[in-house]
Amino acid sequence: MADPRGFLKHPHRRPRPSRPVPVRLMDFKEVYERQQKGTTQAQASRCMDCGIPFCHTGCPLGNLIPEWNDLIWRDQWEEASRRLHMTNNFPEFTGRVCPAPCESSCVLGINQPAVTIKQSEVEIADEALERGYVEPVPPQRLTGKTVAVVGSGPAGLAAAQQLTRAGHTVAVYERDDRLGGLLRYGIPDFKMEKQLVDFRIQQMEAEGTRFYASTEVGTDITWDALRDSYDAVIVATGAMVPRDLPIPGRGLNGIHFAMDYLVQSNKAVAGDDVPDQIHAQGKKVVVLGGGDTGADCIGTAHRHGAVSVTTLAIGKELPSERTEQEPWPIDPRILEVSSADEEGGERRWLASTVEFLGDENGNVRALRVAETEYNPDGTRTPKPGTEQDIEADLVLLALGFTGAEPQTLTNQLGIEFTNRGVIGRSEDYQTNIEGVFSVGDAGRGASLVVWAIAEGRAVAKEVDEFLEGSSRLPAPVRPS
Ligand code: FAD
Repeated sequence: MADPRGFLKHPHRRPRPSRPVPVRLMDFKEVYERQQKGTTQAQASRCMDCGIPFCHTGCPLGNLIPEWNDLIWRDQWEEASRRLHMTNNFPEFTGRVCPAPCESSCVLGINQPAVTIKQSEVEIADEALERGYVEPVPPQRLTGKTVAVVGSGPAGLAAAQQLTRAGHTVAVYERDDRLGGLLRYGIPDFKMEKQLVDFRIQQMEAEGTRFYASTEVGTDITWDALRDSYDAVIVATGAMVPRDLPIPGRGLNGIHFAMDYLVQSNKAVAGDDVPDQIHAQGKKVVVLGGGDTGADCIGTAHRHGAVSVTTLAIGKELPSERTEQEPWPIDPRILEVSSADEEGGERRWLASTVEFLGDENGNVRALRVAETEYNPDGTRTPKPGTEQDIEADLVLLALGFTGAEPQTLTNQLGIEFTNRGVIGRSEDYQTNIEGVFSVGDAGRGASLVVWAIAEGRAVAKEVDEFLEGSSRLPAPVRPS
């Protein structure tokens, strides 16, 4: 185990070092920096190697956290990388963007701040990339079976890598011009730079996975044709139908879905020419929604040079229960806020949207809000007499996603959807059509990168078993 007295010697949690806010707002490069190795080792030594490590179960991937904390403390980075990659195909992604449910499960967190597990993960992952420990792992034999994976987000990539390494011939179809799903065009570079996605694609290509970008299944090639050409099909198309806000004034210019804004910004950061880009420079921006998407809009708008950024979220917490030190939803055992929330802007809680107000040219000029009243039956309504207007000339709707896109999947393949708007599937991730599996956000609804990777690994085992009769691949999670 790591130093048995580590948590006594180092009672303080040292969070990741980040670039100063005024400096990092000048570019889209990553906010966080590498930590001094000695600090990471001291922090890893705080791990108590509990008899029952709840962090294992807190992590959907079942990461072997106490083992790699011990290896960090002992300065054995290559072995730490090997252990980390045993359960996680892409630790440099989760080490950057995961909300770290493992840390919320850390036993040390009961009476000290939790171990900086996410920091351990990202340091091992980055060290491994830097020192060249991560190499292609091509299959030792080919099975002759073929699998199509539709969608190149973390779920599709994890499934494709597992199945390729198991010897199947795997092709990934992606409708976007670049691969990576929301890792590429949702999550901004200041949270995760895209050369990390490029590196993994190159690794996978070297292992034998084939990629077809700019190819929309359902349009460029039909789902039936895909089903007929491959022995199994995995639908990893995400859950990107955005939730709208149908209140008066919704049709005014300057009101956009968050993803339209973020995709364009990510393309511009990648060097693309984006005509008529939705841009926040010089604008009063209002972001509706307080999740990851909302936070990414805040960070992007600040980097674009917005005049003001106001975020509205409905939460049960009353504003009076929040303090200046704790302005935003945070895990009380970890006590850290997201990078975008450190960067400024105003937050409003319990605000109900009433209507958008426009000017004579049809452009949005303000958003009318009111305090939210909770009714005895659980419904929420604007409280009469509390209305006020927030000036806005760019409004971004980051209100979550209602599910996966059903059209071509239903029409061409007869895939059944659940009443939650996602693709129905049984215990083995198989849909109502034999040999067609669904994974990641497409099957569980909008979720997290760590769940997408975990499901990608698990569906690979089911597909392998479907094709071969048995499988030795790991299955960390069941479909929810
Ligand atoms: P996706 O990543 O959505 O990938 C699906 C892919 O399928 C897309 O590339 C799409 O173009 C492609 N596709 C769809 N239909 C077709 C078709 N017919 N043919 C071919 N290709 C198709 N999670 C975290 O853990 N931490 C974060 O910080 C975080 N930030 C986020 C920020 C934003 C703005 C958003 C929107 C989400 C964020 N998430 C975050 C959630 C996380 O990104 C998703 O849960 C995860 O990417 C889901 O992976 P996936 O592979 O299931 O789907």
